[in-house]
Amino acid sequence: MKTAVLVPDAAGVERAAAVIRGGGLVAFPTETVYGLGADALNPSAVARIFAAKDRPAFDPLIVHVLDAADAARLADPLPESARRLIAAFWPGPLTVVVPKSPSVPGIVTAGLSTVALRSPAHSVARALINSAAVPVAAPSANRFSRISPTSAHAVLEQLDGRIDLVLDAGPTDIGVESTIVLCTGGRPALLRAGGLPVEDIQSLVGPLDLKHRSPMPQAPGGLPRHYAPSVPLFLHETVDDVPPEERSGTAALLFTARPVEGFLAVEHLSDDGDLAQAASRLFPALSHLEKTPARAIHAESVPQVGLGRAIMERLLKAASPE
Ligand code: AMP
Ligand code: MG
Repeated sequence: MKTAVLVPDAAGVERAAAVIRGGGLVAFPTETVYGLGADALNPSAVARIFAAKDRPAFDPLIVHVLDAADAARLADPLPESARRLIAAFWPGPLTVVVPKSPSVPGIVTAGLSTVALRSPAHSVARALINSAAVPVAAPSANRFSRISPTSAHAVLEQLDGRIDLVLDAGPTDIGVESTIVLCTGGRPALLRAGGLPVEDIQSLVGPLDLKHRSPMPQAPGGLPRHYAPSVPLFLHETVDDVPPEERSGTAALLFTARPVEGFLAVEHLSDDGDLAQAASRLFPALSHLEKTPARAIHAESVPQVGLGRAIMERLLKAASPE
C-alpha cells in the first residue's frame, strides 16, 4: 500500500475523512502527538490499526470525539467526575476512562468494560472527526513500544506503506501523549501522566489517586518498559554523573543546554529549564540520538512537576534496567 501525504486543507481533510468512513487508516496531527485513526465503530477498520502498529490486542485504544455530547453517547453512564473534567479541560490533552456503552466494539477497548475518550484541540484533528462524522479510534501513530511521532515525517519513518494516508500539519505542539484519568466511581485515578499537568486536574477535583494500578496491568501503559528507543537508555540525576571513561561512543540527553565533554552526540530538551519546551523536544531528541552511531543514551532527570511528571514517566519507561 502506498501512503499518501496530504496538506490538511479542506480537500485534504475531506479525502482523509472518506478514507476513515471507508474503513481505512489515517495518521493525523493532534496537539499531543500524531494519532493513527480509524472508524471506532467499525471493528475491521480498528483491527487494521493493531496490524499496522504490530500492537497486541490487549492494549486498548483512545476514542477521539468532538465534545461532551459525543462522549455521552459512547459512555454508559458518563460519571459526574468525568463530566466535570470534560467541562474544564476539553478540548485538550486529557483522556477520561469511563464505563463503555454497548455501541463501542470490544476490539477498541481490548474487551474491557471501560472506554478511553478524548476530544483533541488541534484544528485538523477536529476537522477530520467532524468531516468523518464517526468517533475516531486513534493510538499514537508509531510501531508498538517505539517512540511516539511528533511530525508527519516521524510517522512515515515507522508506518510508511502500512497506512493509507498522513495529514501533514507540521510538528505537534505539546509533544507528549494525553494525561489519562480513570473515572469509574470513587476518587478519579491517574493512569498516565501526560500533556495536561496533574496539578491542573487536582486544583479542580482535589487529590487524584496517583498510585492506582491500571485495570489492564499487562498493557503497555502499565508495562515497566515502553516508549523504548532502539539503543539502551540510562537515566541519571545529571549526566555530569557519567564517568569520563563511560562517555565515549555514547550520547547525552540534557535537560538544560550547557557544554558537556566526551560524548559522541548531545541533545538538550530545553534552553534553560522550560518544561513545556522539554516535553515538545523529548521524542524528536530521542529519535535523533538513536540515529547516531551511539551505543547508548545517557539521559538526565527533570523536575517532577507540571509536564516534568510526563517527561519522567516516559524516560523511566524508556530506561534499561541497570
Ligand atoms: P496511546 O493512544 O498509544 O497513547 O495508548 C492508549 C493507552 O490508553 C493504552 O495503552 C492504555 O494505557 C490507555 N487506555 C485506553 N483505554 C483504556 C481503558 N479502557 N482503561 C485503561 N486504560 C486505557
Ligand atoms: Mg502510544
